[in-house]
Amino acid sequence: MSLRIDQVTVLDPAPQGPRIREDVSVVVDEGRVREIGQARPEADRVIEGGGDLLVPGLVNAHGHAAMTVLRGYADDLPLQPWLERAIWPVEAHLTGDHVHAGARLAAAEMIEAGITAFADMYLFAEDVARAAEEAGLACLAGASIVDQPTAEGRPEEVLANTKTLLRERPPGEGRVRASLAPHAVYSTSAETLETVAELADEHGASIQIHVAETMQEVYEAEAEHGLRPLAHLDEHGCLTERSILAHCGWMTRAEAERVADAGASVAHCPTANQKLATGGTTPVPELLAAGATVAVGTDGPASNNRIDVLQEAKRAALTHKHHRWDAEQLPAGQALAMATRAGAHALGFTDAGRVQQGAWADLALLDTDRPHLRPMHDPVSQAVYAARGGDVRTTIADGEVVYHEGEHERLDVGTVVADAEQAATDLVTEAEG
Ligand SMILES: [Zn+2]
Repeated sequence: MSLRIDQVTVLDPAPQGPRIREDVSVVVDEGRVREIGQARPEADRVIEGGGDLLVPGLVNAHGHAAMTVLRGYADDLPLQPWLERAIWPVEAHLTGDHVHAGARLAAAEMIEAGITAFADMYLFAEDVARAAEEAGLACLAGASIVDQPTAEGRPEEVLANTKTLLRERPPGEGRVRASLAPHAVYSTSAETLETVAELADEHGASIQIHVAETMQEVYEAEAEHGLRPLAHLDEHGCLTERSILAHCGWMTRAEAERVADAGASVAHCPTANQKLATGGTTPVPELLAAGATVAVGTDGPASNNRIDVLQEAKRAALTHKHHRWDAEQLPAGQALAMATRAGAHALGFTDAGRVQQGAWADLALLDTDRPHLRPMHDPVSQAVYAARGGDVRTTIADGEVVYHEGEHERLDVGTVVADAEQAATDLVTEAEG
């Protein structure tokens, strides 16, 4: 089905700075952007933009979508007690059905916030992948690999599931792709990391992993391995151009340069870091100066507690301005690129993250008629500093309108919410029973 969106201001986050094209029509067909300009060819559906801002579909570079079922379950704790006392005991009772219901709720939330692609690492990754597919979203899905038994099974069973996922959803093909997802240096052995590295190499797969999230993680890695977490990953083959390193809050300038040299990407998650008080501040200016790809991630909905990439882009910009006492750090155009183009690059969705002829038609239209988005001196400033996910009027994924003016057109959102509520109640009852 073809689609034409008229009278929009297009914001395309080009590497040399955002490109703005005012009062154009965008033509979409077969999942791709076909034309941007003054031409208005016939289309099956026409959306009147009325001067709204059209941005690339936002990309969430790090998260655990199914944790929507634990949103608000445990707050106001530091990372380790939050994990050990609150989250892991409940996760021990997870089933694939809980994960599927939670990931569908997250998908509905993402769609309403203009997010069209996400990276995910969690138990029962196939259920996350299925939820993404049902919602029409692009997804890099990885089974969270740890050396302990989990609700998904013993480590060897999880590894077998990962191999199945890699076979059935090959990296580099389609919109829902398998990846490797070792949880962290402190939860996986060197031997596990080497197995992951071999599989990633064999399948051309991405490696998602939490890295240097807390000071404790760095100290423990140094004590146990004689290396900081990044060097340990490097030593065991997990620092590649397809690695997505979440957090990196406790990272030196030299490590930032090593990330860039390896061609790896960083998923910066300022909201979750601040909420869990992990203390370190990701060296984003140094990473960018070294040429690394830096995207933004919301992390799980139990530690954010929203999935709103626009919110994350603004928080990223503000965090580094404030931290450096330098308002010129991370200007709006850079933050917009982190939330779109850089995220797409990090996830390996190289045809996404931009509004250009031939690119994936993954797009978000921001309603500029709202009082907090007037007047319009600078569309890029408005998108990053004034807009929020809730300002999305239309979300287009793979060329299909999945959300428009408050209505989902693909998901039955009433059922999605009811199923997730039931899953959350069942899970917590089981865990606390
Ligand atoms: Zn995480």
